[in-house]
Amino acid sequence: MMNDTIVYRVDADDRIVSVSSAWDPFAIANNGREVTAASILGKNLFEFIGDRTTRHLYRQMLARIRSGGNLAYRYRCDSPECRRLMEMQVVATDTAGGVEFRSVTLEEHPRTPIEVPQADGASDDDPGEPQRACGWCNRLDVEGTWMEIEDALPRLRLLERASPPAVTHGICEDCLARMTEELEFATGA
Ligand SMILES: [Zn+2]
Repeated sequence: MMNDTIVYRVDADDRIVSVSSAWDPFAIANNGREVTAASILGKNLFEFIGDRTTRHLYRQMLARIRSGGNLAYRYRCDSPECRRLMEMQVVATDTAGGVEFRSVTLEEHPRTPIEVPQADGASDDDPGEPQRACGWCNRLDVEGTWMEIEDALPRLRLLERASPPAVTHGICEDCLARMTEELEFATGA
């Protein structure tokens, strides 16, 4: 897994036009079947970003890249079996507005498998209150404090529930500040 670069590309209208061969195995292992190539190709990227602040960030990112900028940032993409630090490189693929998002794994730390809330949307029974998660650092919001999932679990008692709660992915204040700074430096020459 370490060397498989996960790539997706959007066209000038933000439609997802291609994904790399590493996409599907990674999507299935980490996010589930609703984001496999077959179900996302041809669709608008923003169909998959529900959170308003995150949408705004992506719009800024795309605008910067299309005007000649470059951007690379780190984010967390964990699975139940491991914590994973990734780097996202965002580059223009052509002058017509094509943009590629290239994701490489920088670090992988195996852990005892835990119940990681992943998917947006309701679970089958007793969804309860949706759990806020940061889509960039993977921390969970516990009564206003962003915590690593291992620290959050005892507080949230997720494991005592019949099914994991629905998760809404957003962005925490720390990541928003970091991304805002990255974007300032992403201006083209
Ligand atoms: Zn965060």
